[in-house]
Amino acid sequence: MSEQRGRRSFWTWGWQSDEPSQAEREEMAQQLSANYGREVKAPPIPLIDDIELRDPRLKVPDTLAEIVTCDKTERIIHTYGGHFLELNRALKGDFAEPPDAVAYPANETELESVLDWCDSHSFAVIPYGGGTTVVNGVSIPATVSGAVTIDLERLNQVLEVDEISLAARIQAGIFGPDLESALRPQGFTLRHFPQSFPWSTLGGWIVTRSGGHYATNHTHIDDFVESMRMLTPSGWWESRRLPGSGAGPSPDRMIMGSEGTLGIVTEAWMRIQRRPTFRASAGVLFPSFESAYTACRHIAQAKLWPANLRLLDPSEASRAAGLDGKQALLIIGFESAEVPQGNFIQEAVKIAREYQGLIADEDIRTSDGSGETTGREGAVGNWRSSFIGVNAGLTNGLGVVGDTFETAITWDRWPEFDAVVREEVTKVLNEVFNGAGTLSCRFTHVYTDGPAPYYTFSGLSTPGGEAEQWQAIKDAASEAVIKAGGTITHHHSVGRMHRKGWSEQRPALFEAALKGAKKQLDPNGILNPGVLFDS
Ligand SMILES: Cc1cc2nc3c(=O)[nH]c(=O)nc-3n(C[C@H](O)[C@H](O)[C@H](O)COP(=O)(O)OP(=O)(O)OC[C@H]3O[C@@H](n4cnc5c(N)ncnc54)[C@H](O)[C@@H]3O)c2cc1C
Repeated sequence: MSEQRGRRSFWTWGWQSDEPSQAEREEMAQQLSANYGREVKAPPIPLIDDIELRDPRLKVPDTLAEIVTCDKTERIIHTYGGHFLELNRALKGDFAEPPDAVAYPANETELESVLDWCDSHSFAVIPYGGGTTVVNGVSIPATVSGAVTIDLERLNQVLEVDEISLAARIQAGIFGPDLESALRPQGFTLRHFPQSFPWSTLGGWIVTRSGGHYATNHTHIDDFVESMRMLTPSGWWESRRLPGSGAGPSPDRMIMGSEGTLGIVTEAWMRIQRRPTFRASAGVLFPSFESAYTACRHIAQAKLWPANLRLLDPSEASRAAGLDGKQALLIIGFESAEVPQGNFIQEAVKIAREYQGLIADEDIRTSDGSGETTGREGAVGNWRSSFIGVNAGLTNGLGVVGDTFETAITWDRWPEFDAVVREEVTKVLNEVFNGAGTLSCRFTHVYTDGPAPYYTFSGLSTPGGEAEQWQAIKDAASEAVIKAGGTITHHHSVGRMHRKGWSEQRPALFEAALKGAKKQLDPNGILNPGVLFDS
């Protein structure tokens, strides 16, 4: 069905063309064996023909035969999202809970027909964008007796561009690169680049409140949404295009973060921008993490609004940017379509130097509006390549337990928060990996009142022990984050994975209010059951 860009991989992020070869996986297994002093093997990738799948528990009516399929490959491809444990299960050929059918509506009328059919039979409906959820957002709950995944990839057009207000009407199933390609000829960009940009969709970004390119100011997709249109089992929901409004609670804010539980977003008016041509950047080294985050706070609070303000702790700077393991790296970047950025970077560097930041004048890069890209050499270039070149397939199924958790905390509590999280997580990492696990941190986004730290942990599991070991670390991390006053997620969303943490941080009455809204919009509770809360 996916004629536009070839088949989605069923065991790694993205397309089949993104899959590493078995030879590359075996080379990675050898590297891991050398690093950990233990034999690591790369099991073969299962063939789709060899995977056992239960029969569909529903029959597609003839009227929907062009839109809905029970094809085995489609059901396999749509069984999992992008969390490494899901991909590990796929590699083992474990597809115990596939969708019974997959729908590809090409327009709103077809979407209405599919949703009506599901609602009248109480089939669970799983909206599916790019399937890059890392919180089990597209899994099929074992409790349902029939499930239809609705893949939005055929709703993939930029429908209108308003060059006066700088906004575009865009369909929800469009993938990041296609969205940017459609805006580029007119000189525009959305400038929302999550790390999963190549494989994720506008609709997925909106309902998960995705965090993107901008490290300050416009951090979440929320800031770019002008209005949206959504289909619910109770009818259509469409908000009015407005630059701002104080008319009661915002209908858009209710949908952002709803993760497919209240309706299926079909399109949105998004705020766009002219493509930047003026750029300035600097990679500043610091003798300690503490001096670096202090500088970072002062730069954020100076309200210079750099597009990039990524801070890597010494461990992360060593792994991702090739530094010596002692220094922290702060990557600062400014960009604009209208205004030269040289003065801004000079101000930011001045602040960084006040807090022990080291950078030579000649390493501060600016470009003059010609569109030329600068500042991608050295440590900054290394970091950029490792950020963009992220690839799950190489280590999947090799026993690596590698994951991230991300949060946000106010500056007054930050140093203590970091100490508590590191202590609690390191304790479990040491138990699980006998002292051979790693934990590092970077700031993905920075606010005037606090950072959004993003922790990465990794280690080699005992054979077959990945799920249990990951759970022990994840539980320790989640408990520490909530206990120390952070949020269970800054941008990866709640899904089915973060429900406990979310229930502990939100007001109890908020859940009741949300469930009331769900009852109104989705009376039979068919939309993404088990995501956010029990429905
Ligand atoms: C390698 C990698 C890097 C990542 N980097 C980032 C990052 O930098 N920033 C970030 O925020 N996240 C990141 N993520 C997480 C993920 O990419 C985001 O949550 C993203 O917004 C999901 O978009 P998607 O189109 O893949 O949605 P999916 O994974 O398909 O779905 C996510 C959720 O949204 C629902 N949904 C999808 N489309 C619709 C729709 N049109 N209407 C209603 N519900 C819908 C689904 O049911 C599901 O609950 C990353 C994930 C991976 C694997």
